[in-house]
Amino acid sequence: YPEFPGKVAVITGAARGMGARFAAGLLARGVDVVGGDLDGDAMTATAAELNDQAPVEALEAKPGRIIAAQLDVTKAEDHVALAQRAIDEFGRIDFWVNNAGIFPFAEIADITPEQIRATLAVNVEGVLFGAQAAAAHMHPGSAIVNMSSVSAVRVRRGRGAYCSSKAAVAHLTESLAVELGDQGIRVNAIAPGYIDTEMTRWIQDDAPALAKALDAVPLHRIGSPEEVVGVLLFLLSDSARYVTGHSLAVDGGSRH
Ligand code: NAD
Repeated sequence: YPEFPGKVAVITGAARGMGARFAAGLLARGVDVVGGDLDGDAMTATAAELNDQAPVEALEAKPGRIIAAQLDVTKAEDHVALAQRAIDEFGRIDFWVNNAGIFPFAEIADITPEQIRATLAVNVEGVLFGAQAAAAHMHPGSAIVNMSSVSAVRVRRGRGAYCSSKAAVAHLTESLAVELGDQGIRVNAIAPGYIDTEMTRWIQDDAPALAKALDAVPLHRIGSPEEVVGVLLFLLSDSARYVTGHSLAVDGGSRH
């Protein structure tokens, strides 16, 4: 991606999991990153680790630098401050990745009002506030990527709030693409299946449940966070310059 060096990305939920891998992938290609997370200490530790990593010799770009910020995606003002931090530190915002998300496992009969509200606040409002803050500083050619899920289109027990929230992210991605297209900003979503992070620890630790889940995955295995990075890079890149409003599945071909 020769167009990446010197660009600036903001990533939410970047302290661990896919967000941290997204940061690593962009840094290695010369993109400066502002990483925000609810867990400010973990974000600071992750940023220090990423800044210390030896540059990948095969890559020609000078690696980017990451700075850490504490962020609660449910607060619109936190996004505004995060965007301002990117402008103050790096002078521009080219990419914004609305990655932070939560997954409460509870059937509708049991889920609490607090769990429902938190899921919608983090997964849906978080994306909307992020896009608002990003768009205020973006320019033609900028791109936003939201994290949806295979759960946006497939309903499963115990995931009513989560599935609804991710379906909302897919719709929001289309609405944002329509409106921000006027500014030349593209907005797409990634819809992962089972990816090996803390979020899926519960099923990875339950062998029968995992085997059943993987029955419906043609590639018969869980995905790694690294396998989602390439898709993010593509969606942010000039190669995807005529792609907007799209949710791209990264799910091993999941059939349920
Ligand atoms: P993860 O749980 O490993 O990491 C999520 C990060 O978001 C954590 O660092 C957490 O501290 C942060 N976060 C949570 N609430 C926040 C808040 N209010 N403000 C700021 N940060 C907050 O999750 P992951 O697996 O890396 O998931 C990343 C995204 O991908 C999420 O949106 C998730 O829903 C989505 N997704 C994950 C999978 C999967 O299989 N892991 C599948 C489909 C979609």
